[in-house]
Amino acid sequence: MPSMVVPRLIERKRDGMALEPGAWTALIQAYVAGEVPDYQVAALAMAVVFRGLAAEELSELVEAMLSSGDRLDFGAWPVPRVDKHSIGGVGDKTSLLLAPMLACAGVAVPMISGRGLGHTGGTLDKLESIRGFRTRLSLDETLRQVRDLGVAMIGQTPELVPADRKLYALRDVTGTVESIPLIAASIMSKKLAEDLTGLVLDIKTGSGSFMPERAQSLDLARTMVAIGEAKGCRTVALLTAMDRPLGWACGNALEMAEAIHGLQGEGPEDLMEVTYALGVEMLLVAGVETVRTAARERLEGVVQSGAALDKFASLVEAQGGDPAVVRDPERLPKAAVRRDVVASIEGAVQRVDPRTIGYGVIGLGGGRQRTTDHIDPAVGFVIRVKPGMRVERGEHLATIHAADAASADAAEQVVERAISIGDPLPVAPLVSHRLDASGLETLEAG
Ligand code: URA
Repeated sequence: MPSMVVPRLIERKRDGMALEPGAWTALIQAYVAGEVPDYQVAALAMAVVFRGLAAEELSELVEAMLSSGDRLDFGAWPVPRVDKHSIGGVGDKTSLLLAPMLACAGVAVPMISGRGLGHTGGTLDKLESIRGFRTRLSLDETLRQVRDLGVAMIGQTPELVPADRKLYALRDVTGTVESIPLIAASIMSKKLAEDLTGLVLDIKTGSGSFMPERAQSLDLARTMVAIGEAKGCRTVALLTAMDRPLGWACGNALEMAEAIHGLQGEGPEDLMEVTYALGVEMLLVAGVETVRTAARERLEGVVQSGAALDKFASLVEAQGGDPAVVRDPERLPKAAVRRDVVASIEGAVQRVDPRTIGYGVIGLGGGRQRTTDHIDPAVGFVIRVKPGMRVERGEHLATIHAADAASADAAEQVVERAISIGDPLPVAPLVSHRLDASGLETLEAG
């Protein structure tokens, strides 16, 4: 595509018009080939944030991103392959639990994950808090590992969905994440490249989600389910709460440790509830179970028997990481400074704002402000309270894990801004809706 044309595309989208058929395909090809600069694509992405995409444009964009690289191809392998993907949250480490759990329950999981995006954490960054862990496997290595072990956890590569790799990093630092079509295209292009039989989507809703309002979250869920189904991949979405962090830990190594505790059967209740809800859908979509209660028992069984923990250790070892971490999470990187924050008043916890905590992790050095930033895996927060809990004056609210005293000082302000205490407020349900090709079901009204 001649670079001259790109400004016209930006103007057209800025003015609310759909791009001509073929334009998205040409643009994505040229972007991946390095022929269109980031600043033009960032401007176009911002126009999409404000103007959206017509259905035909979205379908062309998904196809263009999917075709920007190779795909996994399991051929006639009869084992069902299912993945789950979250639109992003704070403290959300469900992928780290689900991948090994499902692999122990007869479902193969070829998981392509992302890095931290905006204020949210990323599975790849959490995995890389384990020394030596390689998130870049070749296609052949991935296929072999999924067949042998039942699971691989990797990122977009120059071979696999390179368009998303570039766009994801660009959107992260240009304020262009919050868009239904851009999120849908990013996630669905990765998932459709995995040669899946089924997909479960975790659509977060609430102040820490890219879609804070329930109506937007449902719109995104419908959009993504429709894309998956149109491509022959059975797709189910659950709407889950992201108006507070999930679990206690927020920050890469801290979350890895919490996920390991979850696999040891000692995870925080809310984290385990969301993990099981998603895992049950994965088993149903795979056709491995047909009854919800049996699916849940099967997943609880692989945790209780230690099989899921063993599987995670094998996964870590297969991808070059230190498997001893799985028995002893104390081996994960540790921050030099730990500081407790206590309540200055008594009352009910009204709010633990996930966005404030997510940006707080970035402020501590645990996330990126520029695409090139290196992250400190050790830093973050362990929040000890949830909305609805009662606290006394002087009670422990959170522990800050920081690289130095100055960043711990700044993080104290973050905790004070994020946690409000006062009269009790209603608490939103953890898993409120389920959506599939046959429609929407309300699980728990909030
Ligand atoms: N996760 C993704 O993979 N892409 C997005 O755009 C948002 C969340």
